[in-house]
Amino acid sequence: MSFSECVAALSRDEFVPEKTWRLLLSSLDGEQRRELMSMARAVAMENFGDGVYVRALIEISSYCRNGCYYCGLRSPNKEARRYRLTKEQVMDCCDRGAALGFNTFVLQGGEDVVQSDEWLADVVRCIKGKYPEKAVTLSVGERSRRGYEMLRDAGADRYLLRHESACESLYSRLHPDGMSLDNRMECLRLLKELGYQTGSGMMIGAPGQGIDELVADLLYLDRLKPAMIGIGPFIPAAGTPFENEAPGTADMALLVISLLRMRFPGALIPSTTALATLCENGTELGILAGANVVMPNLTPAGYAEKYTIYNNKKIHDSESAGQLELLERKLNRIGYRIDFGRGDYKEM
Ligand code: SAH
Repeated sequence: MSFSECVAALSRDEFVPEKTWRLLLSSLDGEQRRELMSMARAVAMENFGDGVYVRALIEISSYCRNGCYYCGLRSPNKEARRYRLTKEQVMDCCDRGAALGFNTFVLQGGEDVVQSDEWLADVVRCIKGKYPEKAVTLSVGERSRRGYEMLRDAGADRYLLRHESACESLYSRLHPDGMSLDNRMECLRLLKELGYQTGSGMMIGAPGQGIDELVADLLYLDRLKPAMIGIGPFIPAAGTPFENEAPGTADMALLVISLLRMRFPGALIPSTTALATLCENGTELGILAGANVVMPNLTPAGYAEKYTIYNNKKIHDSESAGQLELLERKLNRIGYRIDFGRGDYKEM
């Protein structure tokens, strides 16, 4: 199969075969990768123009009951510094974000048992009461059907839950006993069923992830058809079993972003902080590969430093919600601009 046949398969209505994904992931030369990237960029431009959506990220808690081997917030990590924001602090963040022009608030955190479904539903209701026109996205892990329902009823619009790996054996290498791919997928199915704009995704270059595992992820995403897809390089986190592992590469992350854009023209794909942390100009490179969302950090100073899912996470410069002019200048330099719209997912 030629390069152009593989690329053409991405825009067809039929399921993309395993073999095609494998070829695209493992056998393109530099020239072909550049060509793919510019096609992906053109697809994003066609659907979203030169606008890049911004979402204000509020990291509500660094406590977590889970023990994911890659994540710096895992409960056994004694080096992790813990905090949880109060409802009032979250509301202050939203006020600050609203004043800056944001139209989406993303509440992300570890699976903090103190921030129960009831607590979170109350916070969401409060935000939606004050800012009914703004979107609320949650990224607070695995919950029960009842929990997801309660949060949906409180007004949450979107939910981010990366599947992390669609390969059974890699999933269990990345997570302790008690966590399962089945449950992760069941959560994603539920979220979609309940009407959330649902996001999934995976790290690139996690320990044990090769081409086969990435192919499994792409096949899964093709079935799930998520509204949002979060992709970022794995970066080791201090105090975790993977602290001495090699990070993922920006090149692979960018290639996957381009493939996803070709396959899911209307999806909301962020140029992630992990990418910006791994390489200089990571934000711009992600956009140029076909991403169309940036999530500046709105977590209050003094707390953002403690939300160390991985080492050296960028929280200053254009990664900070307070530095939107800096982000705007970065985007302008590559021919883009901030779009302050809500940027809801539209099924194609
Ligand atoms: N507790 C929530 C939010 C997790 S943080 C949940 O489980 O969904 C959001 C994402 O950060 C995770 O889904 C994971 O893919 C990513 N992440 C965690 N540790 C990372 C690391 N060391 N390097 C890169 N990305 C990481």
